[in-house]
Amino acid sequence: MAAAVCKIFDNVKLDIGPSTEDGFYYDFDLEHRLSPDDFKKIEKEIRRIINADLPFERVEVSRDEAKEYFKEQPFKLERLDDIPEGEIVSLYRCGDFVDLCRGPHVEKTSDVGAVKLMSVAGSYYRGDEKNHMLQRLYGMADVSREALKARLQQIAEAKKRDHRKLGKELELYSISDDAGPGLVHWHPKGARIRILIEDFWRKEHYRNGYEMLFTPHVGKAQLWETSGHLGFYKEGMFPSMKVAEGEGSHSSVDEYYVRPMNCPFHIQVYKTRRYSYRDLPLRWAELGTVYRYEKEGVRHGLLRVRGFTQDDAHIFCTPEQIEDEVRSTVKFALRILGRFGFTDITAFLSTRPEKAVGIPERWEQATRSLESALKAESIPYEVDEGGGAFYGPKIDLKIKDALGRAWQLSTVQFDFNLPERFDLTYIGEDGKEHQPYMVHRALLGSLERFFGILIEHYAGAFPPWLAPEQVRILPISEKQLDYAKTIEQKLRNADVRVSVDGDNEKLGAKIRKGQLSKVPFMLIVGERDADAGVVSVRSREKGDEGAMSVEDFITRLAEAVKA
Ligand code: ZN
Repeated sequence: MAAAVCKIFDNVKLDIGPSTEDGFYYDFDLEHRLSPDDFKKIEKEIRRIINADLPFERVEVSRDEAKEYFKEQPFKLERLDDIPEGEIVSLYRCGDFVDLCRGPHVEKTSDVGAVKLMSVAGSYYRGDEKNHMLQRLYGMADVSREALKARLQQIAEAKKRDHRKLGKELELYSISDDAGPGLVHWHPKGARIRILIEDFWRKEHYRNGYEMLFTPHVGKAQLWETSGHLGFYKEGMFPSMKVAEGEGSHSSVDEYYVRPMNCPFHIQVYKTRRYSYRDLPLRWAELGTVYRYEKEGVRHGLLRVRGFTQDDAHIFCTPEQIEDEVRSTVKFALRILGRFGFTDITAFLSTRPEKAVGIPERWEQATRSLESALKAESIPYEVDEGGGAFYGPKIDLKIKDALGRAWQLSTVQFDFNLPERFDLTYIGEDGKEHQPYMVHRALLGSLERFFGILIEHYAGAFPPWLAPEQVRILPISEKQLDYAKTIEQKLRNADVRVSVDGDNEKLGAKIRKGQLSKVPFMLIVGERDADAGVVSVRSREKGDEGAMSVEDFITRLAEAVKA
């Protein structure tokens, strides 16, 4: 692209051109003001260079040679000065275009199948607004025209599915700057979905031998001192609240923090009695709402927020139990994720870093149990050697959504720090006190972030078991409104999530609204339907399904929910 720009325009000064997450850019200084009108011309020249099949040749030169070469390129000369003394200076030549570059490059221009210019924007030299403004040209490239087209389509599709856009259109949630940035309000339809997820989640946890806890949302500074959060996590916490207690000479001031994590409270529950090895394992889960002081720049819709509900659990167990516990936790995660259609799962295993707490043998046993669970469930994984937290090894599970994008959801994390700090014990078979293993785990991550991912995964068209509104009844005229209301009540009695569109509009307009709301089933009721005591069914998947009795429709819906 840079070669093409130099060919077409005069007196182009080049800065740098790195690759980015989804493409590349190059910063130029030139008199001509670049605009999308120039893209065709530049792309044509790029195509010519690609078709010429020019090799990229690496040339290593001395600093003086490089300076001589770039004497007309002031930015290059400054960038050259950034290269530390003693490091090799390399140039890449492609036809008559030469750039300062560390490499590596593809061998020849024909290896680049297709390029598309995306946009142009102003950009300060070295990102400093005191400096000269350059023109930044963004592009994308891929191995073939087809591959590039597919990728551009995926980006367009992702834009259409953006949960911030759909969340507003479907009235699922909002975030209000008046209430505070990064704080989520779940609207009736979003709340319906959340409750369905929560009900499913609780039921599955009881089935898998978990118990539920509810614990406080704020705790005294002392608790966060003991847990270590005030030592190593204070920046992630909201500032404290001071609370006056007692009166006169007995008065004191306590300091409270809103919780960034649930763990210290679960530990408080553990510490209320003594446990023997026979009482273990304990599996305690909580849909625990936490608050974290996320910085302005990193917040993004539902994906990065300041208040969120973790689907948290802590497992306390003996060394003998650890292997089975980790294995069944991973199995459980796969089952829960599979229910939402996430079956393409990969994992990261993060092992002991240089600085770590806890006994090395315990680290080894914990890491081994994580690895053998991944092997037993045939989950492909990468090992991040030394990438674990100082307090224990962990695995993170990543899913792929309907667009093939990867999201990290589940995590299983050992903790050798908190049991030590809170002095947790159990009585072993030998009658002596031992320290239990403690594992933090979340399967969905947080309900808010998971909801954002789900909205994009389903493009807002939630399957019948999750749809906030499963059925919408459309009376053709006002005369069928009473009949429609009778059916609505019948369906409500059968726990169907249903509404009536009683607006005074043409049927076509009502159907269009139903489609925009992505309702799985619409029941159309006209005069003949009312007389015959039936409903005309129109489904999101199949379209017109004909007339049937309300009872038959309830069976039809139940099948769809089960599927
Ligand atoms: Zn925890």
